[in-house]
Amino acid sequence: MLNARNTRIVFLVLLLLTLLLDWKYGVPLCIYLLLLLGYLLLLFYGSYFIQSDFFLRSLWKGSKNRKAIAITFDDGPVKDFTPRLLDLLKCENIPAAFFLIGKSIEGNEALVKRMVDEGHVIGNHSYSHTYWFSLNKSETMFSDMKKCDDEIFRVTGKRPKFFRPPYGVINPMVKNAIEKGSYACIGWSIRTYDTNAKSAEQLLQKSLKNLSNGDIVLFHDWGQFTIGILSAFIKEAQAHGFEIIRVDELLNTKAYY
Ligand SMILES: [Zn+2]
Repeated sequence: MLNARNTRIVFLVLLLLTLLLDWKYGVPLCIYLLLLLGYLLLLFYGSYFIQSDFFLRSLWKGSKNRKAIAITFDDGPVKDFTPRLLDLLKCENIPAAFFLIGKSIEGNEALVKRMVDEGHVIGNHSYSHTYWFSLNKSETMFSDMKKCDDEIFRVTGKRPKFFRPPYGVINPMVKNAIEKGSYACIGWSIRTYDTNAKSAEQLLQKSLKNLSNGDIVLFHDWGQFTIGILSAFIKEAQAHGFEIIRVDELLNTKAYY
């Protein structure tokens, strides 16, 4: 299995073999550089693809035995978008998951309360959600994550168990912080790239393409076309026989402590 530990072992064995060959026959420097490049590429792959389970096993897909999917939204609450999203979900009678940015909660308490009251589930998406979040020390990350928990608790009285790392990046520091907080790391199997979508039609096609049992779909509250296509996405998924359920039900695990 391709993970950080196995990759490290294979890299060290290859390095040792190269050193032996170098000692006996001489090995050009480019071979060492190629070896290092391969190792760095694998680390990059493991950090940026949450489904790789390279550094940490994430929950990114439900059972294949139930024709069901879950919809998740990152980066809320957002004043101009989240209320319309909630209206639409209410109208379609669909539950979803919201991975919240802690610093955005203050001033938007009513929206967060509404999420819970209307049957949605809430997860932690860090307090600061800075671009360089994953480069912090794990202690700094852990404090940031706890601060987001505190904000969610202040408003809802619930302590989230679900954490979704900002930008989906996982490295040894993020892994340590997640394990220290005993969070369940929630990934996705369908990344819609809704924040970069060129058109509503393109986003809808991308979101529905390859939809399969157990999929966790990643949208963002603030995606330019997200609200516009959501109703069509729900109807198309349902027309193909998919139930849309909450991510905690899909993964058969508790969302709160
Ligand atoms: Zn995010």
